[in-house]
Amino acid sequence: MKYKKTAIIFGITGQDGAYLAHFLLQKGYRIIGTTRNKSIRNLYRLKKLEIIKRVIVVKGVATDLNFCKKILNSKINEIYYLAGDSSVIKSYETPETSLKSNTEAILNILRILKHNKYKTKLFNAGSGQFYGDNKKNFYNINSKIDPQSPYGVSKAAAYWLIKIYRERYNIYCCTGILFNHESPLRSKEFVTKKIVDTALKIKRKKNIKLRLGNVEIFRDWGWAPDYVKAIWLMMQRTKPRDFLIGSGNSHSLRDFVNEVFKYLDISKKNLKTNVSKYKRKIDLRGYKANIAETSKTLKWKPKLKFKSIIHKMINNELF
Ligand code: NAP
Repeated sequence: MKYKKTAIIFGITGQDGAYLAHFLLQKGYRIIGTTRNKSIRNLYRLKKLEIIKRVIVVKGVATDLNFCKKILNSKINEIYYLAGDSSVIKSYETPETSLKSNTEAILNILRILKHNKYKTKLFNAGSGQFYGDNKKNFYNINSKIDPQSPYGVSKAAAYWLIKIYRERYNIYCCTGILFNHESPLRSKEFVTKKIVDTALKIKRKKNIKLRLGNVEIFRDWGWAPDYVKAIWLMMQRTKPRDFLIGSGNSHSLRDFVNEVFKYLDISKKNLKTNVSKYKRKIDLRGYKANIAETSKTLKWKPKLKFKSIIHKMINNELF
């Protein structure tokens, strides 16, 4: 089979990695994906999207410089770095893992690309979490970077490394500053998936309550498959640059719960909020991405809106 391009997806087993692989296959790419664990259980997203046999999965991590050297030792057109610790909470427990997987790994790849003869392009998954908590909680590419968690620090450091290597060594590398994006493939450790899963259990008459911390925080929630398209568009430009990828809207966690309960016709008596166990000591009040420039330059708009995202997450479990 003749492929148009070869791409490496670091973190192919994750939510975004799986959707990106699916998207790139449709575009005629040959896909190599990395994971730390090749067990079928860990590859469940690739199985669910029915692409497991159409991608090459290799075991390894970008924190291992030798692994990077080996895997990048042939003509690769595009690298998508989507691996690493993606949880803010976990980053307080194991900050060194966040820094290694989100920063050191990017540095390893950049060091190799500095001497790369194939003009390989690199995409790095950044996060709106690194903006911190400014007064308006509305961010654009010039907003001050002021991380409030080890996760935010790891993403900020990678963002700056990408910028330095791009400007100094003329490497095609860029960061997509991603805001929250959801899907039925979201990990269970994230609150949106917990809400959907618990609400479904309540609907099935399990005698439990949905227990949450502060539901007044607000987030900019989007649809993961929409975001992988924006990621790919960033990599098709002639000149690399960073973009914010978000929905441009925000909703509170309470709005999220209300919509789930309404859709499933569940009483709010089953909800308990302000549970101290789930309250974070430091949590960003909220954030929203200004995507005007992204939409205009990339000719991209997120298709799925807040309520439809929730309905899709629920329907996926029901049918
Ligand atoms: P995800 O579902 O958690 O997937 C990340 C993948 O990275 C995992 O499947 C895992 O694969 C690998 N990984 C996890 N910890 C690692 C570690 N310590 N070292 C090496 N590999 C590790 O994340 P996602 O939602 O697809 O997000 C992709 C990227 O976008 C992440 O960098 C995340 O921080 C960023 N981002 C996501 C969001 C969002 O809302 N989803 C928002 C902002 C930024 P294996 O276990 O198979 O190795």
